Amino acid sequence: MDFALSPRQRELIELADSLGREKFAARAERYDREASFPHENYADLRAAGLLALCIPAEEGGLGADFQTYCLVAAAIGRHCGATALTFNMHSCAMMWSGMLADDLPMTEAERAQHAMRRRVHFRRVLDQGAIYAQPFSEGSAAAAGKAPFGTLATKVAGGWRITGRKIFASLAGAAQYYGVLCTEDKPEASQRDTLYLAVPADAPGFEVVGEWDPLGMRGTVSRDLVMREVLVPDEAELLPRGVYHKAAGAWPHMFMTLAPTYMGIAEAAYDFTLKYLRGEWPGVKVKRRMYPTKQLAVAEMYVALEQTRALFHRAIADARVDPAKPERLRALAAQYTIMENANRLCQLAIRTCGGQSMLKSLPLERLYRDSRCGALMLPWTAELCLDRLGRETLYEAGEKD
Ligand SMILES: Cc1cc2nc3c(=O)[nH]c(=O)nc-3n(C[C@H](O)[C@H](O)[C@H](O)COP(=O)(O)OP(=O)(O)OC[C@H]3O[C@@H](n4cnc5c(N)ncnc54)[C@H](O)[C@@H]3O)c2cc1C
Repeated sequence: MDFALSPRQRELIELADSLGREKFAARAERYDREASFPHENYADLRAAGLLALCIPAEEGGLGADFQTYCLVAAAIGRHCGATALTFNMHSCAMMWSGMLADDLPMTEAERAQHAMRRRVHFRRVLDQGAIYAQPFSEGSAAAAGKAPFGTLATKVAGGWRITGRKIFASLAGAAQYYGVLCTEDKPEASQRDTLYLAVPADAPGFEVVGEWDPLGMRGTVSRDLVMREVLVPDEAELLPRGVYHKAAGAWPHMFMTLAPTYMGIAEAAYDFTLKYLRGEWPGVKVKRRMYPTKQLAVAEMYVALEQTRALFHRAIADARVDPAKPERLRALAAQYTIMENANRLCQLAIRTCGGQSMLKSLPLERLYRDSRCGALMLPWTAELCLDRLGRETLYEAGEKD
């Protein structure tokens, strides 16, 4: 496969990398310590135009495709994991409503209506710098794709009335809109009746609740949301009725968009190790690179990093509507590998660099804690990836024992 990047892709990656290197990296320790939201980073992303990364070019955005989004997100993750993770939530709201929706079957009338509605969301980002969150999780089997969402939306004249509770809503309190997955309230509703509605932060009945003091990814501020009879207009639909369910089947790579954050963290753990062992990390005077045991350990890290990178690049280049089975399975294998190897590389980095490397004055222990969170992200947790791979490698569609 040809992974050659276009000049435009390189330009966008370099833009994200320079913001990360020059601004986000130095702020990451404070946001992590305070478990506070990186507002300054978002001001920088907004000023650089990157909040519009996944808004189609014809709508005034940067028009990034899936691969470009993933590479930009990984560049951010290399410098601040929490910023990259929340950037994912915002960017995916734009990508799903934009590029993904364009690939999915709709009637002409549905497409025309969607074009009008999504423009409302795109304009908020382009004109007001709005941020969109993506709260799906409810602590039930819904975010795992195994049951309908418990948050219910009832059709009312001109819009929807929403009631429910979401857990782990990254960007809680920071986003102006929350792209909520909910179930249309009607008899015998199923996962096909999933709706994707943008709830404004200031809507009556909408509330951010609960504490936020987790192990890692502390700057995501993923608190809980409560919605009590929140009214939203029809134009709140980020996807037309029924289309989310189709997207989940036809565009499976839409669920691997958190992986770039962790690819970035894996790169960061390796970058740190090299600088630390070479005695080049600021404040670290001692060189440790001359010991064969350290060299062997770095070699082991390098091999794991190259394996992870290879699968990452291959899988993001595969992404498209209706991928063939090998491409779908490779996406799951890539997600599993990136999430598990990010944490493994951080473990190896601490073991290799030694005791002083995990002091709070250095970023490695934060990378280690942040990396632990990757495999927990539904619907593609490490367990669910293995679950599906185990079944689908051994069974073809329709086969049973
Ligand atoms: C830092 C961080 C940020 C997050 N941000 C967001 C966000 O912005 N938006 C969002 O929607 N979520 C977010 N999440 C939540 C995440 O995606 C998961 O939903 C969450 O970690 C699940 O926690 P749990 O304890 O309910 O997990 P689990 O108990 O593992 O899963 C919840 C349920 O899923 C089902 N399930 C799990 N595994 C299986 C299986 N193998 N087979 C069948 N069913 C299974 C079960 O019903 C289970 O009770 C975030 C999580 C973290 C850690």
